[in-house]
Parts: sequence; structure tokens; C-alpha cells
Amino acid sequence: MNKLAIDGGTPVRTEAFAEWPVFGELEERMVTEAIRSGKWGGSGVVKGSGREPMLPLFERKFAELQDAEYAVNVVNGTVAITVALQAAGVKPGDEVIVPPYTFIATATAALAYGAIPVFADIEEHTLMLDPDKAEQAITPRTKAVIPVHLAGASADMDRFTELGRKYGLSVIEDAAQAAGTAWKGKGVGSHGTAGTFSFQSSKNLNAGEGGILLTNDSAVWERAWSICNVGRVPGGEWYGHKHLGQNYRMTELQAALLLAQMTRLEEQMQTRERNAALLDGLLEEVEGIVPPFRDERVTRHANHLYMFRIDPAWTDRVAKTDFIRKLQAEGIPASAGYFALNRNEAIIGAIREWTGAERIDACPVCERVSDKEVVWLGQQVLLSDEKAIRDVALAVRKVISSY
Ligand SMILES: *Cc1c(COP(=O)(O)O)cnc(C)c1O
Repeated sequence: MNKLAIDGGTPVRTEAFAEWPVFGELEERMVTEAIRSGKWGGSGVVKGSGREPMLPLFERKFAELQDAEYAVNVVNGTVAITVALQAAGVKPGDEVIVPPYTFIATATAALAYGAIPVFADIEEHTLMLDPDKAEQAITPRTKAVIPVHLAGASADMDRFTELGRKYGLSVIEDAAQAAGTAWKGKGVGSHGTAGTFSFQSSKNLNAGEGGILLTNDSAVWERAWSICNVGRVPGGEWYGHKHLGQNYRMTELQAALLLAQMTRLEEQMQTRERNAALLDGLLEEVEGIVPPFRDERVTRHANHLYMFRIDPAWTDRVAKTDFIRKLQAEGIPASAGYFALNRNEAIIGAIREWTGAERIDACPVCERVSDKEVVWLGQQVLLSDEKAIRDVALAVRKVISSY
């Protein structure tokens, strides 16, 4: 039992974890309904039925889930961030503060519009953008800050909305991993200027691809809608393009999938929450491991990913890549997660080329934790049964105690 699987011992687990995506007859029925309606995109009513299409219905339901007033469907979560910045009035050349520990799209979505991402370091315990570091990074050119709600948690929206007010910045919540998450009882994506979500296949709400922008500001909604609808204005003339825009719309088939997937969300959230709490408790007992930090103000957690850390006091002995390889051999789908974006060559290259900047500031906390400490478990793990969670904890204990 104690001989590591990588050395020829018996692996802790050989069974699979939960399947993803979860679907059934409902998805088939709703997609079929969308196909048979003959209305696969656009707005207006479904001919012959008088029924409204599925996209506006989904927009309303999702906005309601996150406590926001307005929604605009968007092709994906990356474009949703670009549109949010643009709708908030950010201009090419303006600076946008972003965390370095996130999916690359948080930074490239700014660059796609010519805005300059400025990296501010993360908090060691939450792994999310540090509000103090973000404040220190503000310059006269700063126009927005993008807190990312990592792994289904929520960034400190008290601090970020306060920063926004104090310095006149737009606050764009990147909530791609946080469908269902709430900060102090109010859905994420509804605290800042705008919030953006992704429905890409790995996310908790999945339509293969897709995204949405939420806001409580009718002017932001109108601009975002226009940007996503080739510069049209709501209710305006078809060929009356009043603004610069693109076609960034989703389709009815995606809305059909999302409406079906939404009916499963509550139960999946409860499963993930139960399993995350169990795993937190089990890993708490394992020397050398730091379970994820839980902020009481995150009143609903989407538990999209499970990110735990190798205790910094142990990283001289425990090399992260070696630890992950050994965990994988035990049958656990662990992975290394993000690299620090402030060291990404493509991003640094673009910033240097566009601004003439000599160097990009270091983010020592992010670099250390991403290089040496943070280990990820994918979302199928938290959707599995209790035995699977106990196996994860057993394997982690077995591997770390071998060092
Ligand atoms: C997935 C993700 C995105 C991008 O969403 P896409 O729909 O894949 O474009 C942006 N930010 C974060 C934090 C993400 O996890």
C-alpha cells in the first residue's frame, strides 16, 4: 500500500472520476426544439408560435441567477471581457490592472482592444488579485481593474468596488469560473461595472462555447449590446450602425443547451460544495498540504476547480512537478495549473512593442506559488462521489509522506 504507484506499487485509485459534461434527454429535447423552430439565431419571435426565442430567455434567467439587471450574450468569455472594457469606456492605450494568476484571456482580452494589461500581484492565501497591490499599480493612465473570481471563489468585491469609486476606475469582474458564486449574498458579476462569464466546455455551465456580459448600468448594457450587434442600437434600424461593433452573438442552439444545463446547476453546486468541504477537512489533516482558503464572505462558491498548495515550508523537499507526477500515477487527475502571466513571452512582447516598456514588474507571490506550490484538481473531481474524494485525500497523504 505504501509503495508509490510510480515505483510499481498499487495505485490508490483505478476507477474513473465523474463524467463531464452531464446531459440527458432534456438537452436533446431542447436542442431539437431549437432546430425545429427554424430560428437558430437573431432576435424577434419564433414564427408561427409567437414564442420568444431561447437566447433572451436565457439572458434573463442567467442575469437573475447572478442578481444583475441586464445581460448581453457573447460568443465566448474572452470576447466578453474585451466588450466589457470597451463598453466601460476604456480606450486603446489605457492601462487595465489584471492579476498574473489567471487564464491568459484576462490579459489578452485587454490587448485585443489595444489596452495595456498591468500586472499586480496576488494574495498568497486566496491566489487572487491583491487589492493593495492593485491600488499601488494605479497610474494616471489606469482606467479599469479586472478582479478574477478564481476557481469559483469571489475576489474581495468590497475592496474592488471601493477602489473603483475612489479612483474613478471601471471594475470588470472576470467571473468565467464563477457561475453561481455570490459575494455577501449577491451574485458575482453584479458588483462592479460589468461582469463576464464563459460557457466554454470546461466551465460549470457548458454550451461548448459561449459567454455573457452582465451589468446593472443601462448605458453599459446599451453600449455592450451595440458592440456585439455590429453597432446597431436596440430597437434601431437594421442598417443603422451607430457605433463601431462586431458580430459577437451566440446562437439559439447554445441557448437551448444552457437552459437545459441550468436546470442541473443547483444540484451540481450542492455536490461540489459537499465534496469541497469534505476534501478541505481531509487535507487539513495532512502535514505539508495547505487546503484552499475559504472566505466567509463568499456565501456561494461555484467550486469550479480545486486548488490546494504544497506548504511553502515543504517546497525545498517536495518539487511540484514530481509531486504531481506521483499523484497522477496514484490515479488522481492533478495538474500544475497556470504559469505566471507576467512572464509570458507573448504578453511581454506585445506590451514592450506597444509601450516601449523596458521591463514588466515582477509578481513574486504569483511566481512562487505557481512555480512551487499550487496543485489543481479538475472540476470532474468535485462532481464525483464521496469515495472518490476520500481517495484523493489518501493519495495526497501517501505521496507527500513519501518525501
Ligand atoms: C475560461 C476563462 C476565460 C475565457 O473564456 P472563453 O469562453 O474560453 O473565451 C477567461 N477568464 C477566465 C478566468 C477563464 O477561466
